[in-house]
Amino acid sequence: MDPAAAPPPPPLAVHLVTGDASSPALSHLLQSLAAARIVAFDAEWKPRRRVPSAPSDDASPAPPNPTQLPTVTVLQMACRGEDGGNEVFVVDLLAVPLADLWAPLRELFERPDVLKLGFRFKQDLVYLSATFTAALGCDSGFNRVEPFLDVTNVYHYLKGHDMQKKLPKETKSLASICEELLNVSLSKELQCSDWSCRPLSEGQIQYAASDAYYLLYIFDLFHQKVSIEEKCSPTAEASDEHCSQRASDCSSSGNDICFDGYSTSIITKYSDRILLTESDTKARSSRRKEKQKLSSDAKCKEKFDYNTEWMGPPPWDPSVGGDGYPKFLCDVMIEGLAKHLRCVGLDAATPSCKKPQPRELLDQIYKEGRILLTRDAKLIKYQYLATNQVYRVKSLLKHDQLAEVIDTFQLKISEDRLMSRCTKCNGSFIQKPLTLEEAIEASKGFQVIPSCLFNRNMEFWKCTDCNQLYWEGTQYHNAVQKFMSVCNISE
Ligand SMILES: [Zn+2]
Repeated sequence: MDPAAAPPPPPLAVHLVTGDASSPALSHLLQSLAAARIVAFDAEWKPRRRVPSAPSDDASPAPPNPTQLPTVTVLQMACRGEDGGNEVFVVDLLAVPLADLWAPLRELFERPDVLKLGFRFKQDLVYLSATFTAALGCDSGFNRVEPFLDVTNVYHYLKGHDMQKKLPKETKSLASICEELLNVSLSKELQCSDWSCRPLSEGQIQYAASDAYYLLYIFDLFHQKVSIEEKCSPTAEASDEHCSQRASDCSSSGNDICFDGYSTSIITKYSDRILLTESDTKARSSRRKEKQKLSSDAKCKEKFDYNTEWMGPPPWDPSVGGDGYPKFLCDVMIEGLAKHLRCVGLDAATPSCKKPQPRELLDQIYKEGRILLTRDAKLIKYQYLATNQVYRVKSLLKHDQLAEVIDTFQLKISEDRLMSRCTKCNGSFIQKPLTLEEAIEASKGFQVIPSCLFNRNMEFWKCTDCNQLYWEGTQYHNAVQKFMSVCNISE
């Protein structure tokens, strides 16, 4: 991408919106939204505080949020009007009456002639919806955003991926997309600043504004590419010669987006929608309970009994849910620990992308109800964002780290938990062991079962997620011995 196309910094007529409907700032926002053709959204939130005995100096005016989801405290909207002009609004949700904003926002989200842009916006929408429903005491939040275009998809399209096909699993942060496409860098420090503190600093306002603002510019790159490709497609009337001429016309026009063209073709061809279902908006613990109901009754009962006895000390709060054991997320520096935790039957995930930003790690722990284990002292400063959900592992060696986690979280590991989870992917095993014949069939094409096992009567276990096969060989028995001692299980 041509770095020369990098946009100017936000036109810093950023409008900070506070006050009620009669305030000039809020009425200006509502007018701009009514006239907008494209609106880019982003949101900043303050995580829930799970410990009710918060000290009284926590004078945050955030509304109580019974769903236990984070409270959105800042909503950013970059609007582009009919004339192509941009305006950026940073709405302080702690300082505007949400009742005045609810109906215009809901209408905007669903207006068919306004394209909504966002970056992995579904999670933000869940939080935003919960924030409004909690504050207004109403049942209906924001369940639908349509037409919608996710900048992650736009990015992949710009990189030459077919949008109809499945996208690569690894996703980039908005900061790295902006750096790559626009040659601008977004502050990573401010991303994790305390968004419930007031007044917002000038830096926070600018950061928040640029997050939404740059989405419009990424859209422009997308629009340019789409226009060129449509004009060059074999179905277009233009000849090749004609086409290159028109393509250069289009790119030279810069930001003068021809709105008539975009609205119909881009919306019909590329836009998507976000629909929130009931399960998206439910608090995690209740969702997990439903899952538990699905597992076998006997096992479930045993786990529940165990759960009630278990009194977790800080930093783990058992109200997070789970099957009586915390679920972990191991930062990239301690992936070896993740494997060890899986060996003793604990749910230990690794980050969903290779070089996660702090916020992505935090997002993942909220979404999946996990505790972040890290050796990165820098991450601990976000501890306030995630009460009881970040723990810094002090030991250096994997075995010591495992012992430290078991000890700190006072976990009682029973023998039947050992080797009950796929060490490769954190998946669980099929309910019934496979016979040798079934295992050979299942291993075809991706795993070799040593022939020395063929004449031994052995059970094979298959991971339900990645299909990896495991069997109780010598290594298995050695490992069990090792973990029995770490977990203080007596024979
Ligand atoms: Zn697996």
